[in-house]
Order: sequence, then C-alpha cells, then structure tokens
Amino acid sequence: MKPITGITRGGTPYTPEFVTDLNQARCIGCGRCYKVCPREVFELIERSEDDEAYDEDEDNTMVMSLANPLDCIGCGACGRVCPKQCHTHQEMPA
Ligand code: SF4
Ligand code: SF4
Repeated sequence: MKPITGITRGGTPYTPEFVTDLNQARCIGCGRCYKVCPREVFELIERSEDDEAYDEDEDNTMVMSLANPLDCIGCGACGRVCPKQCHTHQEMPA
C-alpha cells in the first residue's frame, strides 16, 4: 500500500512520518521534543511514583506524554532532537 506523500515548495516529494508512540521508560523529561513540535502534540506530566523509572535523586519525576497525537503533521522534528530515541514514527497509508 502506498503512503501519503506531499511535496516541498520546490516540488520535491516527501513522505511524512507521524509519531505513533513514545517510550516513557526511556524518557528523561528533557522537554526537547515539546519545544520543537509545531503542533502541541506533547505534554510534560508527572511520572507516577509506582513507575520503575521514577527517581527523585536523579530528578526523573517528569515524563513526556502524547497529549494530541492526532494533530501530528509528520515533520519528524521530535525524533531528531530526542537524546533517548523515545519516539516511534510511521507513514500513513494513502
Ligand atoms: S513529527 Fe513533528 S508534528 Fe509530529 S509530534 Fe513530532 S514534532 Fe510534532
Ligand atoms: S526529547 Fe525524548 S527524552 Fe526528552 S522529553 Fe522528549 S521524549 Fe523525553
């Protein structure tokens, strides 16, 4: 099945890759993906104290979440800035 494609202003085809998952176990809550996202897809939330990754000493009490994943435009910026490779992206079938 062919994926949805777009074109750049110069006419070059490109294929958007939409964020579909975020690995919270790996996330360090740095906020980089939040800052670069043009669509307010992300929200920084408190990590549950029951979460294995919760660590007050390591200041790992906050974690990123996908608040509005359906607003993603597939730019891929979040994946490029994340130091922990937390995001999963997928093309969308046309
Ligand atoms: S791919 Fe772009 S629009 Fe989608 S969540 Fe990442 S930064 Fe936001
Ligand atoms: S860039 Fe990666 S590590 Fe940083 S908050 Fe986003 S998902 Fe978490």
